[in-house]
Amino acid sequence: MLLPLNDRKDLLPFVHKLIEKCTEPYWLAQEKISPSVCVGISMCPDDSSQFGALIQHAEAAMFEAKQQGVPFRVYHQDMHSALTQRLEIEQGLRRALEHNLLNVVLQPKYNLLEGKTIGYEALVRWHDANLGTVAPDIFVAVAEAVNLGKQLDRWVIDTVLQQLSLWQKAGLQPPPVAVNITSKHFSDPELFNHIMTKLQELRLVPSSLQLEITEGVAMDKSPTTLINLNAFRSAGIKIAIDDFGTGYSSLSYLTSLPIDFIKIDKAFVQALESDHNLSLVKAMLAMAKAITVQVIAEGIETHAQQQLLASLGCDFGQGYLYAKPTSLADIEQQLISVN
Ligand code: C2E
Ligand code: MG
Ligand code: MG
Repeated sequence: MLLPLNDRKDLLPFVHKLIEKCTEPYWLAQEKISPSVCVGISMCPDDSSQFGALIQHAEAAMFEAKQQGVPFRVYHQDMHSALTQRLEIEQGLRRALEHNLLNVVLQPKYNLLEGKTIGYEALVRWHDANLGTVAPDIFVAVAEAVNLGKQLDRWVIDTVLQQLSLWQKAGLQPPPVAVNITSKHFSDPELFNHIMTKLQELRLVPSSLQLEITEGVAMDKSPTTLINLNAFRSAGIKIAIDDFGTGYSSLSYLTSLPIDFIKIDKAFVQALESDHNLSLVKAMLAMAKAITVQVIAEGIETHAQQQLLASLGCDFGQGYLYAKPTSLADIEQQLISVN
């Protein structure tokens, strides 16, 4: 939208009005829809007098607004380099997905009392020839922002299932592997069919795969999210709520969901010496017990953390104390040695 403004001070009242109008709720098929918008603003001639550049700057501002979860942002120069970096990551990631240049590593999850491996979490890795190693936190967020989340998830799911099938054929008995699902993707009605078809093709039992979703996804209350949760549960695919405790969930709603595990976020595990965090972890464990959901503590790095969590009744744990995310080849050697 091009807006002729004589005075800068007219900008903000206009933006507020625009956002107010665009976010007015409406009814669709008896359902109340509350739209949200994200506005990026650039100004001529302050930011540029070229139309193309103005659009690009406004887009950079919109991305930042989206990332920060605010309704609008006005362009400033630092955003330009952030946008360029994001574009490079997006292009690189598209290339990597197309040419199979990503990698999966597995991090074991342990039973805290018995010390046995009960499963793995698949974590994606990417080393780009130009960009170097890009952290998953960064490129997964870009993938989500540019609608590549579904493609990325499918690549990880397919790679994991393919590997599980090879191990099974070789007579190894790998425990279940959990795959992280990007936030928008879990409400996709096709996700369930994709996974079930792959499992059948590869002759794998559904319980060989587990899924990790974030609190935000579980809380989104969309009908397809709930349909998928129930469908996976009925099929025998277990679901974990990842990074538990970092969102602002309504516990009463969360407890009504068909989930199998909560994963206490590593931020709590690594600050157990603070009374406040210790109380929070105790409360999470008590809640999980009340609704018969099992608990996995993330990011255990010390024996003290492990002992404290086990004494509080935490079932499972994951973290550098036991194992760092490990290559498929090394996991294969471990599976051979226990077989
Ligand atoms: P997450 O799913 O919560 O994964 C746990 C993160 O904690 C991983 O970081 C893991 O390497 C790290 N971690 C494990 N143990 C420890 C520990 O003892 N100490 C510390 N400090 N860190 C530990 P990573 O691999 O960098 O992944 C970061 C996030 O990126 C993941 O958080 C997940 O949200 C996302 N992600 C990673 N792989 C995938 C994937 O294949 N698909 C999707 N959709 N997201 C992924
Ligand atoms: Mg996870
Ligand atoms: Mg986590």
